[in-house]
Amino acid sequence: MRYSVLSLLKEAFNGNKGWKPTWRDPEPQAEYDVIIVGGGGHGLATAYYLAREFGINRVAVLEKGWIGSGNVGRNTTIIRSNYLLEGNQPFYEKSLKLWEGLEQDFNYNAMVSQRGIINLYHSDPQRDAFVRRANAMRLSGADAEILNQNTLRQMCPFLDFDNARFPVQGGLIQRRGGTVRHDAVAWGYARGADQRGVDILQNCEVTDFIIENGVCSGVETNRGIIRANKVGVAVAGSSGRVMAQAGMRLPIETHVLQAFVSEGLKPVLPGVITFGAGHFYVSQSDKGGLVFGGDIDGYNSYAQRGNLPVVEDVCESGMAIMPMIGRSKLLRMWGGVMDMSMDGSPIIDKMPIDGLYLNAGWCYGGFKATPASGWCFAHLLAKDEPHETATQYRLDRFKRGAMVDERGAGAQPNLH
Ligand SMILES: Cc1cc2nc3c(=O)[nH]c(=O)nc-3n(C[C@H](O)[C@H](O)[C@H](O)COP(=O)(O)OP(=O)(O)OC[C@H]3O[C@@H](n4cnc5c(N)ncnc54)[C@H](O)[C@@H]3O)c2cc1C
Repeated sequence: MRYSVLSLLKEAFNGNKGWKPTWRDPEPQAEYDVIIVGGGGHGLATAYYLAREFGINRVAVLEKGWIGSGNVGRNTTIIRSNYLLEGNQPFYEKSLKLWEGLEQDFNYNAMVSQRGIINLYHSDPQRDAFVRRANAMRLSGADAEILNQNTLRQMCPFLDFDNARFPVQGGLIQRRGGTVRHDAVAWGYARGADQRGVDILQNCEVTDFIIENGVCSGVETNRGIIRANKVGVAVAGSSGRVMAQAGMRLPIETHVLQAFVSEGLKPVLPGVITFGAGHFYVSQSDKGGLVFGGDIDGYNSYAQRGNLPVVEDVCESGMAIMPMIGRSKLLRMWGGVMDMSMDGSPIIDKMPIDGLYLNAGWCYGGFKATPASGWCFAHLLAKDEPHETATQYRLDRFKRGAMVDERGAGAQPNLH
């Protein structure tokens, strides 16, 4: 069923009796061409592009919970491509371009809103660094502008420009950045993949890999054995745990990241704003809530809930740039488990075990990457070679010392 104004009108006059389930609920088959482990944004996007771009539709997505129960439904919804390094910038720009056409492409309203993202700077050296970043972005075809303080004052009069410790001097704006309704992305990709023949198997947890003589030929699940020539793992925060079942230890730590939503307010924020002297980012949802977040919790955990010291830390950072946030009430908060890689960049690569492929290490920036990650992982699974925008996301870069260290923070996930 195609969604359109006409189908909406038809159903409105028919008592809404004609809507079909958004995707099927099939029984697992014994064998597929490709198995994707993890029904988050990346796993579903991979299945969608495998079917749509590469004509491979004997595909199963195995999800241990329900579609959207992981980070794809827990993030703060920010999309952007304001990266500096050549290993990253073209990849994230590809992703932003895919976001721009996504709703028409998969015929689902994901509320893609290019309301812009402003990174604040608070000192002259930081302004110089942002000018360099803006130049790198423009060289690779992305949009970027530097805002001076006067322009910023007009756009965001509520910012604390004269804060004695972190005065706001200006910002780097990417107007094409913005927000997307996160769970609708999972649903849209799931529906698009399902329509092309992909089986989406919920409540299907992978408990082991079938590996013989260095070749992976399937997985064991709580719903039985499922075989495939190629198995792609895209389980984000569970990467370490799942790949340990294949006998692999990854350069990834799992940490909790929390998100917060305030009560609904009148429209006040023009777009996404990020603090340049601490970790804080905020946008306003269409319902009016301020959606914000900050640092990861400083310990390794697979629990999808955070602790109070980080709540305090995030709120302090918010108060430092926009004191008016202190007057609003917090409505709810939650946590997700982040696959923090040792250089802050992802891995999209074939594993040393034949037939096994990994998509991981997204840290807390994987939502914006969803379309390009799905596209590039599908490319790798279909052609056995990396997509041209993802050539630096190899696992062995940590052994070769060829890190893609965007933040220059080294192997310290808490600083990425
Ligand atoms: C609070 C928070 C805020 C964030 N904000 C942003 C943001 O603003 N912008 C941005 O770009 N990114 C953000 N992120 C990061 C982003 O959400 C993640 O990097 C991205 O969603 C990870 O990819 P995914 O969607 O595939 O993950 P997930 O949705 O977590 O998918 C992985 C799936 O694998 C499943 N799984 C795990 N183990 C198994 C198993 N054994 N068998 C079968 N299935 C299994 C899980 O149930 C899960 O559904 C944020 C994350 C959090 C938690």
